[in-house]
Amino acid sequence: MSKLRFYALQELTHRQALEVTPPSNKLSDYYASHVFDQKKMQEYLPKEAYRAVTDAIDKGAPISREMADLIANGMKSWAKSLNVTHYTHWFQPLTDGTAEKHDGFIEFSDDGDVIERFSGKLLIQQEPDASSFPNGGIRNTFEARGYTAWDVSSPAFVVDTTLCIPTIFISYTGEALDYKTPLLKALAAVDKAATEVCQLFDKNITKVFANLGWEQEYFLVDLALYSARPDLCLTGRTLMGHSSAKDQQLEDHYFGSIPPRVTAFMKELEIECHKLGIPVKTRHNEVAPNQFELAPIYENANLANDHNQLVMDLMKRIARKHQFAVLLHEKPFSGVNGSGKHNNWSLCTDTGVNLFAPGRNPKGNMLFLTFLVNVLMMVYKNQNLLRASIASAGNCYRLGANEAPPSILSIFLGSQLSYMLDEIAKQVTDSKMTPEEKTTLKLGIGRIPEILLDNTDRNRTSPFAFTGNRFEFRAAGSSSNCAASMIVINAAMANQLNEFKASVDKLMEEGVGKDEAIFRILKEMIITSEPIRFEGDGYSDEWKEEAARRGLSNIACVPEALLHYTDAQSRSVLLGEKVFNESELNSRLEVEFEKFTKKVQIESRVLGDLAINHIVPIAVIYQNRLLDNLRGLKEVFSPEEYETLSLDRRELVREISHRVTAIKTLVRDMTEARKAANHKTCHEEKAFAYEKTVRPYLEQIRDHIDSLEMEVDDEIWPLPKYRELLFNK
Ligand code: ADP
Ligand code: MG
Repeated sequence: MSKLRFYALQELTHRQALEVTPPSNKLSDYYASHVFDQKKMQEYLPKEAYRAVTDAIDKGAPISREMADLIANGMKSWAKSLNVTHYTHWFQPLTDGTAEKHDGFIEFSDDGDVIERFSGKLLIQQEPDASSFPNGGIRNTFEARGYTAWDVSSPAFVVDTTLCIPTIFISYTGEALDYKTPLLKALAAVDKAATEVCQLFDKNITKVFANLGWEQEYFLVDLALYSARPDLCLTGRTLMGHSSAKDQQLEDHYFGSIPPRVTAFMKELEIECHKLGIPVKTRHNEVAPNQFELAPIYENANLANDHNQLVMDLMKRIARKHQFAVLLHEKPFSGVNGSGKHNNWSLCTDTGVNLFAPGRNPKGNMLFLTFLVNVLMMVYKNQNLLRASIASAGNCYRLGANEAPPSILSIFLGSQLSYMLDEIAKQVTDSKMTPEEKTTLKLGIGRIPEILLDNTDRNRTSPFAFTGNRFEFRAAGSSSNCAASMIVINAAMANQLNEFKASVDKLMEEGVGKDEAIFRILKEMIITSEPIRFEGDGYSDEWKEEAARRGLSNIACVPEALLHYTDAQSRSVLLGEKVFNESELNSRLEVEFEKFTKKVQIESRVLGDLAINHIVPIAVIYQNRLLDNLRGLKEVFSPEEYETLSLDRRELVREISHRVTAIKTLVRDMTEARKAANHKTCHEEKAFAYEKTVRPYLEQIRDHIDSLEMEVDDEIWPLPKYRELLFNK
């Protein structure tokens, strides 16, 4: 057996679950111990500084330099109680993951002594050299400065011995270079628009928050096996590997018992999350072998997103300690379920009302109905923008793969709620309603809570499902930044609500009563958005046909999906709601094209190298063995006997020869295609060239390799196989 694979498998025999003990038996003793939250602020900050922070959080009030110094000082004292030596501005560039540059608290005092200092200036703003982060042409390289600025709404935290300060990341000229800046803008936009709509019903509502509860799917693979797979290490997914005789067909993994080594990993991950104030709550096995899920209690979308980023980072580090590698890629194994990140989204008022949950009285139900129908309309009008927000090189292997939503956007409401909407649309007329009609309508609306209680059907194949008190966007990829879809959903919702409010206002100006105006607009929206409602099996082929008949988009190609970031509707949402300016939007698209291109480029190179350096030589060695065998047979047997006895081996030699030749030719052609694509200077053209002319080779080359895996002696196969990667824990 190849040394790499042999040692990797041998390692496994020594694996043991680590002992993990929480700092205390009571979770509340250590929950958020590493977060500079309100409680610690009260303890460590002078009164006026504490007020300055809370004003900044609640009202967006600016923090003066003097106050910033006081806050920084308090933060430093707290951090030192946890043996912190460094601080960093923690931000989310447009790459995968987060970035940080650690600086020590060390400084020289005026008389030359070393002192530990952390000033307000350092807390509030930093200037990392940002030229190596993707920026889509926003910054010229000679002006490489970027700014990070403190996001007061997300508390500072301590990881290891570093104080981390969540920040936004912007260019010298003020354009966003990260996910957080546009997310905060989208959240502000939806707050404003939703509050105005709420005021039609209840003047006490003055603020609307967007909530996010993410569910993170991931795979764990033994570290030694992972290290023996260059494709996993370099691209996050297996670029080759024949399916295992057993994979997920027995469905014995989902909700099965969690293996002890994995439990130890999960326990430690949860403890670390809890120390950081991340309210993780559920963990379980997923459908595929070695696949798991983690979900917290939902939080404000900005904080929830920071927490998801932090969790992905923690996972990687803690997994290593337990001799695992965590795979966050959307499709690490072909033929086995991929991983998604469900984004559970809701809007909630400062009066404590969840706008996606029916109320206790007809007025509350009207509010619910209004928001529900606006969501229908938002998704209907912005299918392409939503699709763009989840398009990535990894997610394209998962969407539509009979395990994940298709590339078609649709909403599942549950048949009863759907029926109810149709009834309402029927009852509302354009002429003035009679008192009886109003009563029937109100009675109908009054029944919403009962309907929802009965409504237990949960359609798991829908990309955008109503689940009783929230919408669950299930098409996002497991490695994505939640902000990508949260920016789009909240901005589009803001845009939709603004339009709704304007239409209602217009009718009211024409003398139509408020309730009736609202009913009429809702009716129109129910009818217009009808094609987006789908209750059936989203994974089926019939749905693809039906969706086409309904005129819904079905975009499988990533660069094509991305292009919709700048179509007319998307521009009216993203520019109209001031989430991006023109140059930010264009640069974002450019960055997405570039990310896609680079990922396919790396995969193509890795596959080419592995095919030529790992697979072909082994195939040739095995072929030579067969040839030796054939020569021996020829010596021993008569020509007639040889003919029959050697038939299968001669066939095999022929087959292996064909495959080796095919692999070599395909790799050469793929390299040529890459070269041609690399010559293109326009990011869009390059991405399309990679999609159309390079990516198809990956599958073709893999096909030959996977067949060779079945033909060549297992003893000499160089890479850990699917059965080893998926069933060792
Ligand atoms: P599922 O049945 O989809 O697996 P889970 O219990 O795992 O559901 O929860 C899914 C996520 O939805 C959790 O993060 C949960 O906190 C979140 N969630 C629940 N209610 C809301 C809500 N009103 N708004 C946003 N997220 C919510
Ligand atoms: Mg879910």
